[in-house]
Amino acid sequence: MKIPIINHFIAGVAVPPASGQYINVENPATGAVTARLAAGNADDLDSAVAAAKAAGADPAWRDMPAERRSALIYALAQRIQAHAQELLYLESISCGGTVSRLAGMDLPAAMDICWTIAELVKNYPFVENLPQRSLPEMTHGQVIKEPIGVCGLITAWNFPLLMFLTKSITALASGNTVVVKPSELTPHTAARFAEITADLLPPGVLNIVHGYGHVVGDAMSQHADIGKISFTGSTRVGKLIQVAAAQTCKRVTVELGGKGAAIVRPDADLNLVAHAALFGVMLNSGQMCESGTRLLVHKSIEQQVINALNEVATRLVVGDPLDPGTSIGPLSSNQHGERVMDYIRSALDDGARLVCGGERLSIAGCEGGFFVAPTILAGANNQMKAAREEIFGPVLVVIPYDTDEDAIALANDSNYGLSAGIYSTDLVTAQQMSRRLQAGSVWINDWHAIRSDAPFGGYKESGIGREFGIKGLESFLEIKTVITSFQRDPNAKMLYAMLHKQPA
Ligand code: NAD
Repeated sequence: MKIPIINHFIAGVAVPPASGQYINVENPATGAVTARLAAGNADDLDSAVAAAKAAGADPAWRDMPAERRSALIYALAQRIQAHAQELLYLESISCGGTVSRLAGMDLPAAMDICWTIAELVKNYPFVENLPQRSLPEMTHGQVIKEPIGVCGLITAWNFPLLMFLTKSITALASGNTVVVKPSELTPHTAARFAEITADLLPPGVLNIVHGYGHVVGDAMSQHADIGKISFTGSTRVGKLIQVAAAQTCKRVTVELGGKGAAIVRPDADLNLVAHAALFGVMLNSGQMCESGTRLLVHKSIEQQVINALNEVATRLVVGDPLDPGTSIGPLSSNQHGERVMDYIRSALDDGARLVCGGERLSIAGCEGGFFVAPTILAGANNQMKAAREEIFGPVLVVIPYDTDEDAIALANDSNYGLSAGIYSTDLVTAQQMSRRLQAGSVWINDWHAIRSDAPFGGYKESGIGREFGIKGLESFLEIKTVITSFQRDPNAKMLYAMLHKQPA
């Protein structure tokens, strides 16, 4: 079978890489090469940024009213709907996501993100008039929210389509133009989206430059004509991007890693805990920044919780992600799979006890993929490497605690601060505890409860800034204050008298 070529998308058309070089993209479930991807460089990026800059200066885009941008986002969403099946397949063969999750969550969430942003911009006050203020003299004041200009969007491999849409739809809805660098591991859906919407978006408004992060992503972070970088990925790279972007004082939003802790109080509904805690850490084979990877369980119910988790875990189906009966697919690569296994081994070396899983599985028809059985480690403590570092695999670490105070201290004892949660039937206590958890999202009796109208992002080393909702929209806007003075007689201007001692 002929292997498809994925080129850059610049000024509305496919553009081959200046270097002539391509990267093989593999299906994580099978190891088969699914595409040859343009290996971009700084020259390709310059062309894309120039196209984005020109499109942003064109009155057709620059002066487009927010209502029309909103209508455009609705039209883009309709295109996604019309191509849903194809996008779902491409997403699965590039990131290994199960079709049941992609159909049940990712595609509906993609539509929801578009619709929420489209509604938001229709009513957002891009121009605000300030109330009258007569001292030192009568002026009219306006606060204007303007697009930043060319935005550089860099995404990770775990939810390629959702991340691409969250960033690009929000940036475009705010009137910016964009250059996107999708993860080199999962470029398919962003590239296809650009093709199927090429007739809707003015050329140059949406550009994609593919390639390696340390080449294209780094050049983006330094580019003088890029005003903002919005990045999702590892904390290590997020820090590099902030350093590089500081040279030109770019606006920066970074969504980084996590080590979410869920507290199980003695009054929790244990059947809910068993299902929700596994949903919180096993979805997408644990390759989610906000996964609930540490389960802090009150000592009095520790064994009961472990038994319930073990029983529900045995019913999870690891398999081919294209099979609708599969609940857990492969890890992103063999190298990443080996890293996950190393973490499991390190926890056992540190004294944790294996409740279930802990092994690589072979899946018929997917022998080239790396599949790890859902793994639960009990008897752990918060100092173990497996409890401190992001594993990014289907691994739950269970840690016992004594009091609510201890649980809060353990949850907060992490460099990360993306997600946290509380399982309890005492909702007042749970809400009080939520105020003390250092995390951008706290879920009570649930996990992954992300809403497209609520801010999402991290405390501490989990990130800077927020995506989604009004906060997300505003992260792509500059704020300008315009003051108009009505007094034209210099002698009547109170403050001028401090400098001009003679009447005019
Ligand atoms: P990564 O940091 O390796 O790569 C992310 C992106 O950055 C890729 O497109 C990559 O090519 C690019 N990149 C790499 N080096 C770069 C550099 N020097 N300059 C600029 N760009 C560079 O992350 P990953 O392995 O793709 O994704 C997994 C990580 O992403 C995990 O740590 C996970 O927690 C995090 N993540 C966070 C969120 C969130 O919202 N907080 C969401 C999803 C994933």
